[in-house]
Amino acid sequence: MTLTDATHQQNPGQTDTFDESEADTLREYCGVFGVFGFDDAAAITALGLHALQHRGQEAAGIVSFDQGRFHGERRLGLVGDHFSKESTIKRLPGSAAIGHVRYATTGETMLRNVQPLFAELNTGGFALAHNGNLTNAQALRRDLIKEGAIFQSTSDTETILHLVARSRKTALVDRFIEALRQIEGAYSLVCLTNKKLIGARDPLGIRPLVIGELDGKYILASESCALDIIGARFVRDVKNGEIVVISESGLESIEPFPPQAARPCIFEYIYFARPDSVVHGRPVYEVRKAMGRELAREQVIAADVVVPVPDSGVPAALGYSQQSGIPFELGIIRNHYVGRTFIQPTQSVREVGVRMKHSANRCVVEGKRVILIDDSIVRGTTSVKIVQMMRDAGATEVHFLISSPPITHPDYYGIDTPQKDKLLAATHSLEEMRAYIGCDSLAFLSVDGIYRSTGYPGRDNARPQFTDHCFTGDYPTSLTDLVEENRAQLSLLAEAS
Ligand code: AMP
Repeated sequence: MTLTDATHQQNPGQTDTFDESEADTLREYCGVFGVFGFDDAAAITALGLHALQHRGQEAAGIVSFDQGRFHGERRLGLVGDHFSKESTIKRLPGSAAIGHVRYATTGETMLRNVQPLFAELNTGGFALAHNGNLTNAQALRRDLIKEGAIFQSTSDTETILHLVARSRKTALVDRFIEALRQIEGAYSLVCLTNKKLIGARDPLGIRPLVIGELDGKYILASESCALDIIGARFVRDVKNGEIVVISESGLESIEPFPPQAARPCIFEYIYFARPDSVVHGRPVYEVRKAMGRELAREQVIAADVVVPVPDSGVPAALGYSQQSGIPFELGIIRNHYVGRTFIQPTQSVREVGVRMKHSANRCVVEGKRVILIDDSIVRGTTSVKIVQMMRDAGATEVHFLISSPPITHPDYYGIDTPQKDKLLAATHSLEEMRAYIGCDSLAFLSVDGIYRSTGYPGRDNARPQFTDHCFTGDYPTSLTDLVEENRAQLSLLAEAS
């Protein structure tokens, strides 16, 4: 099997540098998509990736399979920048394809990390796209390198490829399962072989993955909004710990792990997923509105208008307004032609980004007591700017409400919240945060409030229904790489003293 890979030829001048230091700072969030049995698989995949663009705006890639050959295109930038071109899609023939959109922090936007990854195995070609983050990738990588493995990228996903390649099992699916048994952390995977489209979710189902169907053919996607764009029907979620194998003979489900309760990431509801997606059976929009209603029950404030921080705060602000009876108004207008603030690499650039992205709608806020609603505070950059913007536009009071609990712990499963010392809520008390942000009052939705918004009576502390580690520090898997890193730092400190 051969791969025609246009990545480097098409992007001769693109950044493709390697920095050893990047390996241990890898953290990604992404979207995946795959189709099997469609005449124009790559074009459908491009559409699916376009609908998943919110899950990663820095790079995109598609690998297709046609008559004995794999074809790959990987590009930095937005899906529409490259994959809307007929010439690009023509280079991706075949009836099966997988695709990936990727976000990465500074320095990692290099072509060799752009997915799908591809390897020639003795069973044939194997392409792989991953959403999530492994928590033992560094440890596995170190052992593999010791044994002679040659890594092409700094991505934790490549570890999976090496594990599949080294398995002694005969059938590709068995080799894949053997690889999955060795990895820890979060993964929603779509893979393509010369005969099969394979999807897999980690044993806790931390990141989402859904199955769709169109004209009797199957589709895999991170979110249901990617099915809607092509008119496909939502079939079901891939279950936690499930592997689905799609081939000429239909869809086969394999559950190789001991059964356990799912713990999907609650942050999909708060921020990541698109509001028109249905995640784990619940419409994201409805859950976000319910978060706003819960917030209104928990935080009763006398004010004139409820103003969302667009777009992330809009459904929660609607819910708050409906529950409290305080009018909802668009007091901040967002410029849609600027990427997400968060993707800017440095703090100073991020600050400029925030001003570029939002502006106050003076006629709504002047002389008013404003309740401002956003979905989360990470570093606090957005909050400081927006509160000041409200004051500059003449708001007499600014009450800042957040439709999720304070983020006090970093994420290791692919949502790219930063290290603890960069998280405002990890380093400041509530009153210190209020003073830093400059608002008249500041409040967050409670942890139980967020569970109530998803339809549960509250958090079941004995068996939490979601992973909510960002708010509670309750990490649902082992964190092998982190533990080893901490141990190494401690021994360095001991040596120095
Ligand atoms: P910050 O300005 O750093 O406090 O970031 C808060 C803003 O970023 C909020 O408006 C959120 O909607 C958004 N946000 C929250 N989490 C993330 C994330 N992991 N990636 C990108 N944006 C995020």
